[in-house]
Amino acid sequence: MVLMIAFVSDLVERQRKFLTDRAKERVVLQSDLLAASAVPQITTEDYSGLNEVLETLVQDKAVRYALVTDAAGKVIGHSDISKVNHWLVDPESIRILHSKVKTTQFIESEQSVKAASPILNQGETLGWAWVAGDFRDDAKAIAVVRRTGIYYVLIAVASGLVFSIVLSNTITKQLRLLLAGTERLSRNELGEPVRITTDTEVGTVARAFNDAMRKLHEQQLEVDRARHELEAEVSERRRAEEELQNANRAMETANESLQRFAYAASHDLQEPLRAVANYSELLTRRYRNKLDEDANDFIGYIHDGAVRMQSMVKALLDYSRAGARDGSKPAAIDTAEALDDALKNLQTAVEDSGAKVETHKLLPVHAHRVAVTQIFQNLIGNAIKYTTDRRPVVKISSVADGGFLKFAVQDNGPGIAERDYERIFTIFKRAHGADIPGAGVGLSICAKIVQGYGGKIWVESQKGEGSTFWFTLPRARSSITQELDPVTRERSSS
Ligand code: ADP
Repeated sequence: MVLMIAFVSDLVERQRKFLTDRAKERVVLQSDLLAASAVPQITTEDYSGLNEVLETLVQDKAVRYALVTDAAGKVIGHSDISKVNHWLVDPESIRILHSKVKTTQFIESEQSVKAASPILNQGETLGWAWVAGDFRDDAKAIAVVRRTGIYYVLIAVASGLVFSIVLSNTITKQLRLLLAGTERLSRNELGEPVRITTDTEVGTVARAFNDAMRKLHEQQLEVDRARHELEAEVSERRRAEEELQNANRAMETANESLQRFAYAASHDLQEPLRAVANYSELLTRRYRNKLDEDANDFIGYIHDGAVRMQSMVKALLDYSRAGARDGSKPAAIDTAEALDDALKNLQTAVEDSGAKVETHKLLPVHAHRVAVTQIFQNLIGNAIKYTTDRRPVVKISSVADGGFLKFAVQDNGPGIAERDYERIFTIFKRAHGADIPGAGVGLSICAKIVQGYGGKIWVESQKGEGSTFWFTLPRARSSITQELDPVTRERSSS
């Protein structure tokens, strides 16, 4: 708008200057002409001829009036005859009369420009020719130009306003809303879309931005949902783990107190039982012939019962002690050495039975040597104890099973009925009669030890063919990657 006003003002000013200059040139030319044509009239004092020239001159619409004065400023001819014989009185004219003799022009008023040319004859100033040019037409033209300029400025301002309003309502406003949308995006506030205010390209961009933001929002909601679910799952799992830990701790405490109770009870029971057995034996010996047959039988029952109870109490004591760790931590132990210890303990039984014991190379396990020795001793001891009329053959092997080693102690004994597979691992439960001595605690001790290491024990059997006792123990970490090398070593009593 400012540029427009400046441009129009400049245009008007140039136009005005052009018209003024043209008018000045014209009056100068006319005053020069008048001065030239006035010479003969003045020299001949033909003032009527002079008036004719003046009348002709004012025929031109651009000339307001014209006059001729003598050198002193007295009007000798005038386009307005009534002004003849008047004197020039205005200061500007007087100044020209007294200044250097030459054609001079000056602005007389807003509507007129005046020129004065000296009337010269052979170097003598006869007078002055004065022509006043009319500025009014030019002023009108300038006014038209100015008005037109103002119209154009107004039109330009109005269209500029309309353009800027349209621009603001379409592009600018939409861009502002889009910018606010990107700010919300940077603050991760994806729920509020950008309002669409136009169908232009900017509106299309805003629509695409909304689509992208909506997708992002949906994804974020999905991620939030998944995270909440995961958090709930994690806290649920943590709670379950805590419960399990609490239950484990409670079970450990209960186990420990049960163990202490079993140990204390069996230990304390031994003394009175020994007394009952000893005194019942003493009774038998001293009063055998003094009592009747029934009394002798009763004393015998008391003695047998006490002895049986003694062996049961001892078994209970063994069971309660089994797997007691004396505070030491499990470590990698050489399984073959533990097996050797067990076989040394069983040396007499092996020799007496003439049994053949075959062992494969065994990988190390993560446990206690005494505990592993006890497992082998119980299982191999049973394999030698429960036999048929065949020569006992015991095979010991192992195979890797994930982080565990799976051991097999296989015999060729009488085998076990399927209904006894589980119960024989319970304390005092036997599948054989009293003809084969035993307290029914060996397998329960094995189960207790194995379970203490997180392992399992079970039996598979073919009646009349033999049994295989399986148990698992954690592998020593160093052996996890090692492969089992089945080198057979044979041990035999012979
Ligand atoms: P015990 O041998 O003192 O009776 P165990 O707990 O060691 O106690 O065994 C429980 C029962 O399992 C035994 O009484 C026996 O009936 C059965 N048993 C154990 N080992 C064998 C085996 N190798 N062959 C057949 N039966 C067996």
